[in-house]
Amino acid sequence: MKAASIRLVAASLALVAGSALAQNYPTKSVTMMVPFAAGGPTDTVARLVAQGMTKPLGETVIVENRPSAGGILAPEQVKNARPDGYTILIHHIGMATTPTLYRKLRFDPLNDFEYIGLINEVPMTIIAKPQMPAKDFKEFLSYIKANKDKVSYANAGIGAASHLCGMLFMNAIQTSFLTVPYKGTGPAMNDLLGGTVDFMCDQTTNTTSQIKAGKVKAYAITSEKRVPSLPDVPTLGELGVKNADVGIWHALYAPKGTPKPVLDKLVGAMQTALADENVQKRFGDLGAVTFPKDKQTPAALQAHLKAEIDKWAPLIKKAGQYAD
Ligand code: ASP
Repeated sequence: MKAASIRLVAASLALVAGSALAQNYPTKSVTMMVPFAAGGPTDTVARLVAQGMTKPLGETVIVENRPSAGGILAPEQVKNARPDGYTILIHHIGMATTPTLYRKLRFDPLNDFEYIGLINEVPMTIIAKPQMPAKDFKEFLSYIKANKDKVSYANAGIGAASHLCGMLFMNAIQTSFLTVPYKGTGPAMNDLLGGTVDFMCDQTTNTTSQIKAGKVKAYAITSEKRVPSLPDVPTLGELGVKNADVGIWHALYAPKGTPKPVLDKLVGAMQTALADENVQKRFGDLGAVTFPKDKQTPAALQAHLKAEIDKWAPLIKKAGQYAD
Protein backbone atom coordinates (compact mmCIF):
# COMPACT_ATOMS: atom_id res chain seq x y z
CA MET A 1 0.00 0.00 0.00
CA LYS A 2 1.27 3.48 -0.82
CA ALA A 3 2.17 5.81 2.07
CA ALA A 4 -0.73 8.15 1.24
CA SER A 5 -3.23 5.27 1.34
CA ILE A 6 -1.81 4.04 4.65
CA ARG A 7 -2.25 7.52 6.10
CA LEU A 8 -5.83 7.64 4.83
CA VAL A 9 -6.65 4.24 6.36
CA ALA A 10 -5.03 5.28 9.66
CA ALA A 11 -6.98 8.54 9.70
CA SER A 12 -10.26 6.71 8.97
CA LEU A 13 -9.54 4.17 11.72
CA ALA A 14 -8.83 6.99 14.17
CA LEU A 15 -12.10 8.64 13.21
CA VAL A 16 -14.05 5.40 13.71
CA ALA A 17 -12.30 4.79 17.05
CA GLY A 18 -13.00 8.40 18.07
CA SER A 19 -16.65 8.18 17.23
CA ALA A 20 -16.94 4.78 19.00
CA LEU A 21 -15.40 6.43 22.10
CA ALA A 22 -17.85 9.31 21.75
CA GLN A 23 -20.77 6.89 21.45
CA ASN A 24 -19.74 5.07 24.64
CA TYR A 25 -19.17 8.32 26.54
CA PRO A 26 -18.95 8.58 29.48
CA THR A 27 -17.02 5.61 30.82
CA LYS A 28 -15.50 7.46 33.81
CA SER A 29 -16.22 10.49 35.97
CA VAL A 30 -16.53 13.96 34.44
CA THR A 31 -14.83 16.97 36.07
CA MET A 32 -16.69 20.27 36.26
CA MET A 33 -14.22 23.09 36.89
CA VAL A 34 -15.36 26.05 38.96
CA PRO A 35 -13.42 29.33 38.61
CA PHE A 36 -14.02 30.42 42.23
CA ALA A 37 -13.51 29.13 45.76
CA ALA A 38 -15.57 26.37 47.36
CA GLY A 39 -18.52 27.54 49.43
CA GLY A 40 -19.30 30.52 47.16
CA PRO A 41 -22.25 31.08 44.82
CA THR A 42 -20.76 29.66 41.60
CA ASP A 43 -19.71 26.61 43.59
CA THR A 44 -23.24 26.23 44.98
CA VAL A 45 -24.78 26.26 41.49
CA ALA A 46 -22.05 23.90 40.22
CA ARG A 47 -22.68 21.33 42.95
CA LEU A 48 -26.42 21.26 42.37
CA VAL A 49 -26.04 20.92 38.59
CA ALA A 50 -23.22 18.35 38.87
CA GLN A 51 -25.27 16.20 41.19
CA GLY A 52 -28.27 16.43 38.86
CA MET A 53 -26.15 15.46 35.82
CA THR A 54 -24.68 12.39 37.50
CA LYS A 55 -27.78 10.22 37.11
CA PRO A 56 -28.48 10.85 33.40
CA LEU A 57 -24.78 10.46 32.54
CA GLY A 58 -24.41 7.29 34.61
CA GLU A 59 -21.06 8.58 35.89
CA THR A 60 -20.21 10.98 38.69
CA VAL A 61 -19.72 14.63 37.85
CA ILE A 62 -17.01 15.85 40.20
CA VAL A 63 -16.78 19.54 41.08
CA GLU A 64 -13.23 20.85 41.13
CA ASN A 65 -12.54 24.38 42.35
CA ARG A 66 -9.77 26.20 40.51
CA PRO A 67 -10.09 29.57 42.23
CA SER A 68 -8.33 32.71 41.11
CA ALA A 69 -9.15 36.38 41.54
CA GLY A 70 -11.47 37.28 38.65
CA GLY A 71 -11.99 33.59 37.83
CA ILE A 72 -9.63 33.78 34.87
CA LEU A 73 -7.62 30.58 35.41
CA ALA A 74 -10.28 27.86 35.16
CA PRO A 75 -11.44 28.87 31.64
CA GLU A 76 -7.83 28.74 30.45
CA GLN A 77 -7.36 25.30 31.99
CA VAL A 78 -10.54 23.99 30.39
CA LYS A 79 -9.53 25.51 27.06
CA ASN A 80 -6.29 23.50 27.28
CA ALA A 81 -7.93 20.26 28.50
CA ARG A 82 -8.49 17.28 26.17
CA PRO A 83 -11.71 17.85 24.25
CA ASP A 84 -13.19 14.50 25.24
CA GLY A 85 -16.09 15.54 27.48
CA TYR A 86 -14.33 14.61 30.71
CA THR A 87 -13.49 18.22 31.58
CA ILE A 88 -16.16 20.90 31.43
CA LEU A 89 -16.46 24.44 32.78
CA ILE A 90 -19.16 26.25 34.67
CA HIS A 91 -18.85 30.01 34.58
CA HIS A 92 -20.93 33.13 35.02
CA ILE A 93 -21.19 36.58 33.47
CA GLY A 94 -17.39 36.84 33.81
CA MET A 95 -17.12 35.04 30.44
CA ALA A 96 -18.70 38.16 28.92
CA THR A 97 -16.96 40.87 30.95
CA THR A 98 -13.35 39.60 31.06
CA PRO A 99 -12.72 40.06 27.32
CA THR A 100 -13.16 43.82 27.85
CA LEU A 101 -11.71 44.03 31.36
CA TYR A 102 -8.43 42.27 30.59
CA ARG A 103 -5.93 43.57 28.08
CA LYS A 104 -4.27 40.16 27.93
CA LEU A 105 -6.63 37.26 28.44
CA ARG A 106 -5.29 33.79 27.69
CA PHE A 107 -8.60 32.43 26.45
CA ASP A 108 -11.20 33.66 24.01
CA PRO A 109 -14.75 32.98 25.23
CA LEU A 110 -16.12 33.16 21.69
CA ASN A 111 -13.61 30.87 19.97
CA ASP A 112 -12.01 28.48 22.45
CA PHE A 113 -15.08 26.58 23.69
CA GLU A 114 -18.00 24.45 22.69
CA TYR A 115 -21.24 25.57 24.29
CA ILE A 116 -23.47 23.31 26.38
CA GLY A 117 -26.18 25.69 27.56
CA LEU A 118 -27.50 28.39 29.86
CA ILE A 119 -28.30 27.37 33.45
CA ASN A 120 -29.84 30.15 35.52
CA GLU A 121 -30.01 33.83 36.35
CA VAL A 122 -29.30 35.10 39.84
CA PRO A 123 -29.76 38.61 41.23
CA MET A 124 -27.20 40.20 43.51
CA THR A 125 -27.58 41.76 46.92
CA ILE A 126 -25.74 44.62 48.56
CA ILE A 127 -24.89 43.41 52.04
CA ALA A 128 -22.75 44.62 54.91
CA LYS A 129 -21.00 43.26 57.97
CA PRO A 130 -23.26 42.59 60.97
CA GLN A 131 -21.80 45.55 62.90
CA MET A 132 -22.76 48.08 60.18
CA PRO A 133 -24.74 50.73 62.10
CA ALA A 134 -27.07 51.74 59.21
CA LYS A 135 -30.61 50.39 59.54
CA ASP A 136 -31.68 50.99 55.95
CA PHE A 137 -30.23 51.85 52.54
CA LYS A 138 -30.47 55.60 53.07
CA GLU A 139 -28.45 55.43 56.27
CA PHE A 140 -26.05 52.95 54.67
CA LEU A 141 -25.40 55.34 51.78
CA SER A 142 -24.77 58.28 54.12
CA TYR A 143 -22.51 56.13 56.28
CA ILE A 144 -20.31 54.79 53.49
CA LYS A 145 -20.06 58.19 51.83
CA ALA A 146 -19.15 59.88 55.11
CA ASN A 147 -16.57 57.17 55.84
CA LYS A 148 -15.33 56.56 52.30
CA ASP A 149 -11.68 56.60 53.32
CA LYS A 150 -12.22 53.93 55.97
CA VAL A 151 -14.79 51.63 54.38
CA SER A 152 -13.70 48.55 52.38
CA TYR A 153 -15.52 46.64 49.65
CA ALA A 154 -14.86 42.91 49.20
CA ASN A 155 -15.00 41.31 45.77
CA ALA A 156 -13.70 38.27 43.91
CA GLY A 157 -11.25 40.16 41.70
CA ILE A 158 -11.49 41.95 38.37
CA GLY A 159 -13.88 39.99 36.16
CA ALA A 160 -15.95 38.65 39.03
CA ALA A 161 -19.65 39.37 39.30
CA SER A 162 -18.98 41.12 42.60
CA HIS A 163 -16.45 43.34 40.82
CA LEU A 164 -18.98 44.26 38.13
CA CYS A 165 -21.68 45.01 40.70
CA GLY A 166 -19.30 47.11 42.81
CA MET A 167 -18.11 49.00 39.75
CA LEU A 168 -21.68 49.86 38.70
CA PHE A 169 -22.66 50.78 42.26
CA MET A 170 -19.63 53.01 42.88
CA ASN A 171 -20.24 54.74 39.53
CA ALA A 172 -23.91 55.25 40.36
CA ILE A 173 -23.21 56.80 43.76
CA GLN A 174 -20.06 58.55 42.47
CA THR A 175 -17.91 57.33 45.32
CA SER A 176 -15.11 54.78 45.29
CA PHE A 177 -13.88 52.62 48.12
CA LEU A 178 -10.86 50.51 48.94
CA THR A 179 -11.48 47.16 47.20
CA VAL A 180 -10.26 43.91 48.74
CA PRO A 181 -10.05 41.06 46.18
CA TYR A 182 -10.58 37.40 47.12
CA LYS A 183 -10.53 34.21 45.03
CA GLY A 184 -14.27 33.91 45.38
CA THR A 185 -17.00 35.38 47.53
CA GLY A 186 -17.11 32.27 49.75
CA PRO A 187 -13.95 33.45 51.56
CA ALA A 188 -15.04 37.10 51.20
CA MET A 189 -18.26 36.24 53.05
CA ASN A 190 -16.26 34.73 55.92
CA ASP A 191 -14.34 37.98 56.32
CA LEU A 192 -17.54 40.01 56.08
CA LEU A 193 -19.14 37.90 58.80
CA GLY A 194 -16.03 38.46 60.90
CA GLY A 195 -16.16 42.22 60.25
CA THR A 196 -12.74 42.39 58.52
CA VAL A 197 -14.30 44.02 55.44
CA ASP A 198 -17.34 46.29 55.44
CA PHE A 199 -19.60 45.48 52.51
CA MET A 200 -19.97 43.54 49.31
CA CYS A 201 -22.34 42.71 46.50
CA ASP A 202 -22.94 39.03 45.92
CA GLN A 203 -25.35 36.58 44.35
CA THR A 204 -28.44 35.60 46.36
CA THR A 205 -27.20 32.01 46.03
CA ASN A 206 -24.55 32.96 48.59
CA THR A 207 -26.30 35.60 50.63
CA THR A 208 -29.90 34.42 51.15
CA SER A 209 -29.25 32.13 54.12
CA GLN A 210 -26.97 34.68 55.84
CA ILE A 211 -29.55 37.44 55.32
CA LYS A 212 -32.40 35.27 56.60
CA ALA A 213 -30.37 34.24 59.64
CA GLY A 214 -29.69 37.92 60.38
CA LYS A 215 -25.95 37.36 60.13
CA VAL A 216 -25.38 40.15 57.59
CA LYS A 217 -27.23 43.39 56.88
CA ALA A 218 -28.99 43.46 53.48
CA TYR A 219 -29.66 46.85 51.92
CA ALA A 220 -30.63 46.30 48.29
CA ILE A 221 -31.28 43.89 45.44
CA THR A 222 -29.74 44.56 42.03
CA SER A 223 -32.61 43.21 39.93
CA GLU A 224 -35.53 45.10 38.45
CA LYS A 225 -38.04 43.28 40.66
CA ARG A 226 -37.84 42.14 44.27
CA VAL A 227 -36.83 38.52 44.85
CA PRO A 228 -39.59 36.24 46.25
CA SER A 229 -37.16 34.57 48.68
CA LEU A 230 -36.15 38.00 50.11
CA PRO A 231 -39.40 39.99 49.88
CA ASP A 232 -38.33 42.73 52.33
CA VAL A 233 -35.18 43.76 50.50
CA PRO A 234 -35.87 46.74 48.16
CA THR A 235 -34.44 47.00 44.64
CA LEU A 236 -31.84 49.63 43.77
CA GLY A 237 -34.38 51.12 41.35
CA GLU A 238 -36.92 51.58 44.17
CA LEU A 239 -34.17 53.27 46.17
CA GLY A 240 -33.47 55.76 43.39
CA VAL A 241 -30.09 54.29 42.31
CA LYS A 242 -30.05 54.16 38.52
CA ASN A 243 -27.88 52.16 36.10
CA ALA A 244 -26.59 49.72 38.71
CA ASP A 245 -28.85 46.75 37.98
CA VAL A 246 -27.02 43.54 37.24
CA GLY A 247 -28.16 39.93 36.95
CA ILE A 248 -25.67 37.08 36.95
CA TRP A 249 -26.09 34.15 34.58
CA HIS A 250 -24.37 30.79 34.66
CA ALA A 251 -23.60 28.44 31.80
CA LEU A 252 -21.68 25.28 30.90
CA TYR A 253 -18.85 25.00 28.37
CA ALA A 254 -16.54 22.30 26.99
CA PRO A 255 -13.15 22.61 25.27
CA LYS A 256 -13.27 23.41 21.55
CA GLY A 257 -13.33 20.23 19.48
CA THR A 258 -15.38 18.13 21.90
CA PRO A 259 -17.22 15.65 19.61
CA LYS A 260 -20.86 16.38 18.84
CA PRO A 261 -22.23 13.07 20.27
CA VAL A 262 -20.45 13.86 23.57
CA LEU A 263 -21.80 17.41 23.60
CA ASP A 264 -25.30 16.11 22.91
CA LYS A 265 -25.05 13.87 25.98
CA LEU A 266 -23.83 16.76 28.13
CA VAL A 267 -26.65 19.02 26.90
CA GLY A 268 -29.23 16.29 27.64
CA ALA A 269 -27.75 15.65 31.11
CA MET A 270 -27.74 19.37 31.94
CA GLN A 271 -31.37 19.69 30.83
CA THR A 272 -32.34 16.70 32.97
CA ALA A 273 -30.51 18.21 35.95
CA LEU A 274 -32.28 21.55 35.53
CA ALA A 275 -35.68 19.85 35.39
CA ASP A 276 -34.96 17.94 38.62
CA GLU A 277 -37.38 18.86 41.43
CA ASN A 278 -34.67 19.12 44.06
CA VAL A 279 -32.53 21.41 41.87
CA GLN A 280 -35.59 23.56 41.08
CA LYS A 281 -36.47 23.86 44.75
CA ARG A 282 -32.93 24.77 45.83
CA PHE A 283 -32.63 27.35 43.04
CA GLY A 284 -35.99 28.84 44.08
CA ASP A 285 -34.98 29.02 47.75
CA LEU A 286 -31.78 30.80 46.74
CA GLY A 287 -33.47 33.32 44.43
CA ALA A 288 -32.11 31.76 41.21
CA VAL A 289 -34.32 31.51 38.11
CA THR A 290 -33.67 28.62 35.71
CA PHE A 291 -33.50 29.53 32.03
CA PRO A 292 -36.39 28.03 30.02
CA LYS A 293 -35.61 24.78 28.21
CA ASP A 294 -35.14 26.44 24.81
CA LYS A 295 -32.28 28.46 26.34
CA GLN A 296 -30.61 25.42 27.87
CA THR A 297 -28.91 24.80 24.51
CA PRO A 298 -25.56 25.46 22.81
CA ALA A 299 -27.08 27.88 20.28
CA ALA A 300 -28.84 29.94 22.96
CA LEU A 301 -25.66 30.15 25.05
CA GLN A 302 -23.59 31.24 22.06
CA ALA A 303 -26.09 33.99 21.20
CA HIS A 304 -26.40 35.10 24.85
CA LEU A 305 -22.64 35.25 25.37
CA LYS A 306 -22.13 37.37 22.26
CA ALA A 307 -24.99 39.71 23.23
CA GLU A 308 -23.60 40.06 26.78
CA ILE A 309 -20.08 40.83 25.52
CA ASP A 310 -21.56 43.53 23.29
CA LYS A 311 -23.75 44.87 26.11
CA TRP A 312 -21.01 45.15 28.75
CA ALA A 313 -18.07 46.32 26.60
CA PRO A 314 -19.17 49.97 26.30
CA LEU A 315 -20.24 50.14 29.97
CA ILE A 316 -16.90 48.78 31.16
CA LYS A 317 -14.99 51.06 28.80
CA LYS A 318 -16.98 54.03 30.15
CA ALA A 319 -16.07 53.05 33.70
CA GLY A 320 -12.46 52.84 32.49
CA GLN A 321 -11.45 49.80 34.53
CA TYR A 322 -8.90 47.42 33.11
CA ALA A 323 -6.49 44.74 34.25
CA ASP A 324 -3.38 43.33 32.56
N1 ASP B 1 -19.74 35.55 43.41
C1 ASP B 1 -18.40 35.54 42.97
C2 ASP B 1 -18.20 36.64 41.99
O1 ASP B 1 -18.15 37.71 42.46
C3 ASP B 1 -17.82 34.31 42.48
C4 ASP B 1 -17.92 33.15 43.43
O2 ASP B 1 -17.25 33.08 44.45
O3 ASP B 1 -18.65 32.28 43.07
O4 ASP B 1 -18.07 36.46 40.81
